Amino acid sequence: MAHSKALLVLENFIGGKFVPSSSYIDSYNPSTGDVYCRVPDSGKEEVEAAVKAAKVAFPIWSSKSPLERSQILNKLADLIEHDLEAFAQAESKDQGKTVTFARTVDIPRAVYNFRFFASSILHHTTECTEMAAMGCMHYTSRTPAGVAGLISPWNLPLYLLTWKIAPAIACGNTVVAKPSEMTSVTAWMMCKLLEKAGVPHGVVNVVFGTGARAGEALVCHPDVPLISFTGSTLTAQRIMEKSAPHCKRLSLELGGKNPAIVFDDADLLQCIPTTLRSSFANQGEICLCTSRIFVQRGIYSEFLKRFVAEAKKWKVGNPSDPTVDVGALISKEHLEKVRSYVKKAQAEGARVFCGEGVDSLALPTGNQKGYFMLPTVIAEVKDESCCMQEEIFGPVTCVVAFDTEEEVIERANSVKYGLAATVWSSNVGRVHRVAQRLQAGLVWTNCWLVRDLNLPFGGMKASGIGREGAKDSYEFFTEVKTITIKH
Ligand code: NAD
Repeated sequence: MAHSKALLVLENFIGGKFVPSSSYIDSYNPSTGDVYCRVPDSGKEEVEAAVKAAKVAFPIWSSKSPLERSQILNKLADLIEHDLEAFAQAESKDQGKTVTFARTVDIPRAVYNFRFFASSILHHTTECTEMAAMGCMHYTSRTPAGVAGLISPWNLPLYLLTWKIAPAIACGNTVVAKPSEMTSVTAWMMCKLLEKAGVPHGVVNVVFGTGARAGEALVCHPDVPLISFTGSTLTAQRIMEKSAPHCKRLSLELGGKNPAIVFDDADLLQCIPTTLRSSFANQGEICLCTSRIFVQRGIYSEFLKRFVAEAKKWKVGNPSDPTVDVGALISKEHLEKVRSYVKKAQAEGARVFCGEGVDSLALPTGNQKGYFMLPTVIAEVKDESCCMQEEIFGPVTCVVAFDTEEEVIERANSVKYGLAATVWSSNVGRVHRVAQRLQAGLVWTNCWLVRDLNLPFGGMKASGIGREGAKDSYEFFTEVKTITIKH
């Protein structure tokens, strides 16, 4: 593989110090296909050192007041925000997403994650009940759980890692984090700011490497009582097996096969641009992306025609170009996997209306070896097809027709996943009815990706176990105790 001139070499961050590694993994720039960075290939030894550092830091950090911790989190948010452009450029180069997306979504949200939990940690209360007849009162107290293991994926690297680090340390835990080996750079950049923000040594430790080595060493470590994981359902199953002997607490945020349901009274002027975004934003590499669009038969042809015409306008290419909408997919292997779904659909007799396999893709000279793909719309596809059942995690969406409300609810629910759904209708009663019956942890009606971080986030069925959010993350990252006082 081609190596670009000056390789960026990352180091683990353990006990407040950058520590070089004895072996490394190549990391690619998805938009050029070149290796540009080397990531430590950590294993048990490095994880052991990081857990040790986190244990040493725990008594001091956990005894700080929520206000003291909150001030430090806010300082860290300010420092990341100050370097927002550098973080956005790095995230784009490492992940393939457009700089515009990283600048307006990933990095601002990473900043907000710290600000949000810096604020929410100040407002939790515990419970108290009285049993007058028994002369007793009961109350609950919450304490940080200890060393939290945090494992994150490659699609929204700093955004999702900070969604875990911020609540974990706000609650008084210390952490060992393992970002995806494919997108480690912004986590490493964040480590450079921790000391300046006032985060004591050992509170945040970051160990880079693969899931099989570093990830599993963290999951199996006896001194890490809880694991917050975001990634694929397959990996989560392995984490559950590996952590079972230790009875660890797990928060699992997993994949999805999210439906959008478009009724014939939907406002298509709102619905079409939003559903294009929900299908193709971040190259379709968001767990919440729509990949099955059910359109009521009366408007099906009209919807499909307009949707395809608009999808064709999405520009694919150099992620630094501000006019580009779709950057590169994360890796060559992933691109091949996503393409293979389109081929399978075609072999099954489905029609590809635009994108992969039917349109040509023109790329700038420097991006010829990048992992690009056009937004792809598949129709006339059966519900049993793998394109309608499996998570593709790329810029591919299927459009199918339905007749009745009852029918579409059943079809939307007939997958193993249950993360998110979108309902488009101007009938308020129908919107409520359908939302109530969809098997999904999040249902957006007449919008997509509007989030209030106070409220629970997570999936049903194979999309996850547990929820994260202000109260949910607080509960996950703390141990509760019920204390009874006889007076
Ligand atoms: P992945 O499961 O391959 O990897 C996720 C993380 O787990 C990486 O850091 C990886 O190194 C690590 N890992 C892999 N094997 C491991 C093991 N045996 N033990 C411990 N750690 C291990 O997922 P991915 O390909 O990085 O991310 C894409 C997936 O993540 C998609 O399925 C997507 O839907 C899901 N996702 C879900 C959410 C959500 O909030 N529900 C958000 C983003 C992504």
